[in-house]
Amino acid sequence: MRKAAASLIAQTGVPVTADELSSIEVADFGLGHLAVEGAQILTLLQSERIGVKLLVLTPGQTLPEHLHPVVGSDPGKEETVRVVLGTLLLYSEGGDTISSGVVPSGKEAVYTVRNERKMVPGDQLTLPPGNKHWLQAGDEGAVAFSFSSVARDLLDVFTDPEVQRRVVVRK
Ligand code: ZN
Repeated sequence: MRKAAASLIAQTGVPVTADELSSIEVADFGLGHLAVEGAQILTLLQSERIGVKLLVLTPGQTLPEHLHPVVGSDPGKEETVRVVLGTLLLYSEGGDTISSGVVPSGKEAVYTVRNERKMVPGDQLTLPPGNKHWLQAGDEGAVAFSFSSVARDLLDVFTDPEVQRRVVVRK
């Protein structure tokens, strides 16, 4: 998966170093079927206040539904997604308009937001804190920047109780 992710990143034209490529995090969220539900994440910058990542999804791969919660006095992570390669289906709160994507089989109960935005390179969207969202790549995979305030990924709240954010598969 890391190789597949590196190949997708290469197609974007976004320059990255060999060290960065070798640091790609392959996350299956503890669900054990990476090609269906999972994500490859290349962290370019993560400080106490800001995070910049490349999110890489292989064809049809889904990053499970989650939200970024309020943490103490922090209002929660604001996240901006900007697509640089492929088609990215982004689902968030709003009317049910799902048409191009599919909820992973058997997971209807834990994919609760169905408002679809079909994003192509250059499209950008900001998700306010507390807003549930999930992502799915189109047929060619997708790469997007994720720009965010305080990136406390381990505190993200996933709708699916089976998700274990701490479990990371490295291949
Ligand atoms: Zn998110």
